Amino acid sequence: MYWNKNIETMPCNELKRLQLKRLKKTIAYALKSEYYRNVLKNIHIEKISSLSRISEIPYTSKTDLREHFPYGFLCVPQEEIIRLHSSSGTTGTPTVVFHTKEDIEAWQNIMARCIVMTGARRSDIFQNMMGYGLFTGGLGFHYGAEKVGMLTIPIGPGNSKRQIWFMQQFKTSVIHILPSYALRLHEVMEEMGIDPARDLSLRIAFIGAEPHTEEIRQKIEKLLDIKVYNSYGLSEMCGPGVAFECTYQNGLHLWEDEFYIEIIDPTTGKVLPEGEEGELVLTTLNRKAMPLLRYRTGDLTRIIPGACQCKRTHRRIDRIKGRSDDMLIINGVNIFPMQIEKTIMSIPCVGKNYVIEIHKKNFMDKLVIKAEMAKEHFPGNQAELKHFEQKITGELKTELLVTPDVILVEPGSLPVYEGKAKRVIDLRDEKCSI
Ligand code: AMP
Ligand code: ZN
Repeated sequence: MYWNKNIETMPCNELKRLQLKRLKKTIAYALKSEYYRNVLKNIHIEKISSLSRISEIPYTSKTDLREHFPYGFLCVPQEEIIRLHSSSGTTGTPTVVFHTKEDIEAWQNIMARCIVMTGARRSDIFQNMMGYGLFTGGLGFHYGAEKVGMLTIPIGPGNSKRQIWFMQQFKTSVIHILPSYALRLHEVMEEMGIDPARDLSLRIAFIGAEPHTEEIRQKIEKLLDIKVYNSYGLSEMCGPGVAFECTYQNGLHLWEDEFYIEIIDPTTGKVLPEGEEGELVLTTLNRKAMPLLRYRTGDLTRIIPGACQCKRTHRRIDRIKGRSDDMLIINGVNIFPMQIEKTIMSIPCVGKNYVIEIHKKNFMDKLVIKAEMAKEHFPGNQAELKHFEQKITGELKTELLVTPDVILVEPGSLPVYEGKAKRVIDLRDEKCSI
């Protein structure tokens, strides 16, 4: 089943022609923004006569978005924008993305394509367990599911017992959930004596927002007795809906009528041939409020060569292997280690050294910050220590939008490195749990 068969199975040549037409329009559009007017001043649009000539345009990065906050990339008058979203995490200068009415409609349509591609139908009951708000995961799926016509339950994340109660009462058949939370939810089901195969009506799960392995997908499928589909997106492009798995579960179709794909070597910036792994770079082809040209997503993947059995012609990317930068994803929330450093180093009781650990606890990610105390505050009494730890936790929570565990330790007790300090220790893949 297709949402839009003509587009989804469009012959490759036709798709390329459409891309070129849209690319030219997008570049002309982008010139309306202060940022691109400046960056593209030496580029002759007339010369972009083929898709490969896109290489003449410089890359756009997250830093560019931050540096030109808030309106540097805006291409329409403010009264034409109807919504803004922001990348998850960080309360510092966020990356903000604007949408016109047409942008939201286009987003709804690609979301509907993704949902229908997995076999979900109008008759399904959809429980959306992703965060609503500035984060695009909740609202993106919400509008897509309503477009398909599913009964949509906008429950948001958390409160596992209530989630399960809704699933039982309304015979939820499709869910959208963080992979880590899906595993946690199963644990709560077990505690409640609920067997998903016997007691629930679940048949499809959409999982995304954070990297996960094929093994995790299979585990969720087995535990919840459900088919699980990988959903990829980023707020800079629109949010979820950029790429999604079909029922063959072998890579994610990236909607090439909406986005132009390049894979580059993250170090040299050189464009890599199809099939090689590198950083995904995307150009929007159908966005009005805030088109982005050659945007470096920071996500590592490759284009899977060859056609898919589902007959969709839009090429597939492999599941995301990691990041080309140091961005951490903690339960779906993006965090840069520098934000942590900036926050803790501004607190006087913190000394020179710190380490960021990421653990798994009850299947969910747990951020643990160990920081040495400043000599003049050490040893202090227990009450003081608790007070400082709480203060740091509070400040980090405000900055990161996730709550870490903070442990203050003796000055000089954390490892010191001769070369580059190893600040982040990711223990999620190991059998280590706290
Ligand atoms: P945000 O802009 O807050 O929605 O975050 C987008 C980022 O989340 C992407 O650039 C990826 O790093 C990550 N992400 C989203 N979906 C997936 C997925 N299915 N697998 C791995 N990482 C993902
Ligand atoms: Zn397919």
